[in-house]
Amino acid sequence: MEANQFKDFAKEMIDYVSGYLENIRDRRVLPTVEPGYLRPLIPATAPQKPDKWEDVMADIERVIMPGVTHWHSPRFHAYFPTANSYPAIVADILSGAIACIGFSWIASPACTELEVVMLDWLGKMIGLPEDFLACSGGKGGGVIQGTASEATLVALLGAKARMIDRVKKEKPEMSDSEIVAKLVAYTSAQSHSSVERAGLLGGVKMRGLQPDDNNRLRGETLEVAIKEDREAGLIPFYVVATLGTTSSCTFDNLEELGPVCNSNNIWLHVDAAYAGSSFICPEFRYLMKGIDRADSFNFNPHKWLLVNFDCSTMWLKDPSWLVNAFNVDPLYLKHEQQGAAPDYRHWQIPLGRRFRALKLWFVLRLYGIENLQAFIRKHVELAHYFESLVRGDERFEITEEVVLGLVCFRLKASNEINEALLKRLNGRGVIHLVPSKIRDVYFLRLAICSRFTEKADIDISWKEVKEAADEVLKK
Ligand code: PLP
Repeated sequence: MEANQFKDFAKEMIDYVSGYLENIRDRRVLPTVEPGYLRPLIPATAPQKPDKWEDVMADIERVIMPGVTHWHSPRFHAYFPTANSYPAIVADILSGAIACIGFSWIASPACTELEVVMLDWLGKMIGLPEDFLACSGGKGGGVIQGTASEATLVALLGAKARMIDRVKKEKPEMSDSEIVAKLVAYTSAQSHSSVERAGLLGGVKMRGLQPDDNNRLRGETLEVAIKEDREAGLIPFYVVATLGTTSSCTFDNLEELGPVCNSNNIWLHVDAAYAGSSFICPEFRYLMKGIDRADSFNFNPHKWLLVNFDCSTMWLKDPSWLVNAFNVDPLYLKHEQQGAAPDYRHWQIPLGRRFRALKLWFVLRLYGIENLQAFIRKHVELAHYFESLVRGDERFEITEEVVLGLVCFRLKASNEINEALLKRLNGRGVIHLVPSKIRDVYFLRLAICSRFTEKADIDISWKEVKEAADEVLKK
């Protein structure tokens, strides 16, 4: 493809993209296709001679759109939001053009340096303590990971390296494998599945502890578990606390967990994948109280801060535990300025990394903090609006305090009836929700996801819920 053709193709795509997003409300949120729908729609082999780009464009509606779940529809209320904004899309075009692999400073200095500064900007925006920020001049700093799952695993690996180092100083006779066999990590039984997975991938025990009646992991529960495990000869080394759980957007008690971790030399990682974006609003920062005690903190601007996937920001007070623990330094990756700026390949699992800081830079500049705050506040208001509609219908109950943009609710009826309600709702295809279950109580989760969502959309979603409930209860 030549530059002239590229310009025409790209212009047409931009028109298509804005048309798609601005009219997304008119599409059915969940597709109706069956598994295997796509293969018969395209040839069995790649073309020998190039296709025309006009034909590729035409195939988007024919082949792709019938199988798309429209995550940015105002009627999409499943999981948590995933971000989407025009500045981030444009930044990705530029990132695609530069197409560098920024594993070290010299591999593309702007890629590393913009990331360092953006993590400082964002850290300041959410009120992170200074010692997490590179601009403080201390050890701390931030990095963009692909996902929160990677951040949890990377922090676990850092914690593991730190504890092995500590134990070896005290007991030089112990081998690495003897120490690793005794390591134990903790999290709430309600933390995201990626935390359990980090334990599996990291080859260590991960205990899921019971949260309290309000679904918050408490300091005392952690303390008891640590004591038990120490008595059994194990070595506690890592805790993952969640701010905004996936099931119900609940907040572990950081103010209690932090001191327990600090006094036991345990690495505390805080997973605020969804809720973290809300901390740009001062009124929600009470939810991160106690963050000063953490060793690492992560949230996903690609969830709720209008930066398209992938952009998972992570800060560490002392990244040297990662950088030094996994430092393999072949000649072809060395450069003369090593040590003068971060070489992010040491902070992550893969070697390669995209120029993701561009998306953050464009979004932060082109929205400005005020508009981003307004966006978060609007979602929280819409959640409270939906909550008020649910509370106004005595057939329903709210099962968890609505703090941010998630409403957990159910019919005051059996799990089976609520399962039938969800099945009917998703089957009607106008709105899309997913359920969760806590202590055997099944409930529906309605998350405010799209940046296009207005009050009128919430009215439509509520009408859908009410009608589906009428049908289910009649049956
Ligand atoms: N942690 C929490 C609290 C989440 O809600 C999620 C996803 O929704 C994750 C972690 C996993 O996020 P990612 O897909 O970025 O790994």
